[in-house]
Amino acid sequence: MEFSEKALVLRVGRFREIDAWVRLFSPSRGVYTAFAFGGCRSRRRFCGCLDVFNHVHFKVRSGRTYHTLLEGQLVNGHATLRTTPGRLGMAVNCLKFCEAVEVAPPGARAAHDLLLATLAALSGESEPPRLFPLYFRARVSCDQGFFPSLAACHHCGAACVDLPGAVFHVEEGRFLCPACHLPGRGTFVRLGRETVALLEAVRHTGPEAWAGCDPSPTAAGEFSRLLDRFVAYHLGLSWEHGTFVKN
Ligand SMILES: [Zn+2]
Repeated sequence: MEFSEKALVLRVGRFREIDAWVRLFSPSRGVYTAFAFGGCRSRRRFCGCLDVFNHVHFKVRSGRTYHTLLEGQLVNGHATLRTTPGRLGMAVNCLKFCEAVEVAPPGARAAHDLLLATLAALSGESEPPRLFPLYFRARVSCDQGFFPSLAACHHCGAACVDLPGAVFHVEEGRFLCPACHLPGRGTFVRLGRETVALLEAVRHTGPEAWAGCDPSPTAAGEFSRLLDRFVAYHLGLSWEHGTFVKN
C-alpha cells in the first residue's frame, strides 16, 4: 500500500553506505521509522529532505514489517532555527521530548501541530525565554491528558488561584489547597498563585504567546521543579546530557 503525507524528520541514521533510516513524526501515525534505500545518494528523490527539523511531503510504501520512503519534497527546512545555538538547543529539546513520549496515534495530531507551531515560534524569536522547552513539556503533558487542571483543590474543591501555599502531590498527581495539604509520604511541590497562573496560561495559549510569559524567579523555580518531577514520575523521562533518558 502506498500513501503520501507531510511528516517532520526527528532523526536520521545511515546504514550500508547509501541507505538511511528516518524517524518521522506524522499527524496521523505518530512517531515511526521508515527506510530510504539509496537515500544518501539520491538527489532526485530526496533532495535536501533527509535532515532533522525538515517538514517533508513523503510518498511512502507500507509493507508488512516496515515502511519505505519512495520520494520526498521539502516543505519547510526551518533554516532559521540553526542560526543560533540557544534557539537550536531548545528546538532539539522539544523534538526529543516528542520522540521520547511516544505519542500514540489518537493524540499524535495535537502533539505534531504543537511541535510545528513551536518550531515556527522559536524561528521567530531571537532570544526565546529560558523556560520555553518546559512550557512545551507542560503543554504536551496537558494535551495528552497527563496533567490535571489546577483550577481547584482536588480534595475539597476550593478555588486555589487565590490561596497562597497550595501544593502539588507529584506521585498522586493531585493539587491541594493549604487546608488539605497534610504532611505525608510523597513529593510535594509548592505552587504559588503566579506559578498556577503561568501553567494555566501555557495550557490555554500557543507557543507564539509564550515569549510574553515573564515569571518571577520564584514562579520560574516552582514551575521548573514541578515539570521536572512530574515528567520524571509520570512519563518516566529525565533530561540528561542532551537527551531524554527513560527512568
Ligand atoms: Zn482543599
